[in-house]
Amino acid sequence: MKENRNIHVSEGFVSYLDRCRLLNQNGLVLWMTGLSGSGKSTIAVNVEKRLFDKNKAVYRLDGDNIRTGLNSDLGFTENDRNENIRRVIEAAKLFKDAGIITIVSFISPYKKMREQAKLKIGAGCFFEIYIKASLEICKKRDPKGLYKKAINKKISNFTGITDIYEEPEEPDLIIDTDLLSVNESVEKIMEFILDKIKFS
Ligand code: ADP
Repeated sequence: MKENRNIHVSEGFVSYLDRCRLLNQNGLVLWMTGLSGSGKSTIAVNVEKRLFDKNKAVYRLDGDNIRTGLNSDLGFTENDRNENIRRVIEAAKLFKDAGIITIVSFISPYKKMREQAKLKIGAGCFFEIYIKASLEICKKRDPKGLYKKAINKKISNFTGITDIYEEPEEPDLIIDTDLLSVNESVEKIMEFILDKIKFS
């Protein structure tokens, strides 16, 4: 913990609800977790487009994108993964507070960090979506060739091979991409969130 630096948080005159009213939607976070290759990014870009086409203010925080910018200084040790997610939680919270529908697609393998996300963002605005696929299928898909590299020991700390993935115990929604097509997966998420994003 850093020393107290005389920081004073200012509230401002515009509230979260004011912003939601302006955008005619509820700001919330859809937190997609799952193995590499399970389908998080594919589903996230499609859900984003579907919501955008419905005139919704939506933004995506994607693992690989954030790792090339905000988190480019971080690797894949347990400490770095935790710091990676800590920053993403803070970023997602800011977007949500701005009234934006925020789609987070990160492996986020540790249960503790996902619990932290829910706690920080707020249970009513946070939805954990488990993008579920078996390791066998993910290895077969291997869209970025990462499983091959991990198996050949060219990369270390790779989730599912040389690092753990802790499955969500009570996710708000499970999307089983072993069984569903991309369209079916996107449709299921749209059904799940449409009433939640409606400003009330
Ligand atoms: P992740 O972001 O989880 O690492 P990607 O979205 O990059 O995964 O890759 C998932 C791969 O699986 C893509 O090639 C995609 O076309 C394929 N796929 C097959 N079925 C599905 C599905 N139901 N949902 C999402 N992706 C799927």
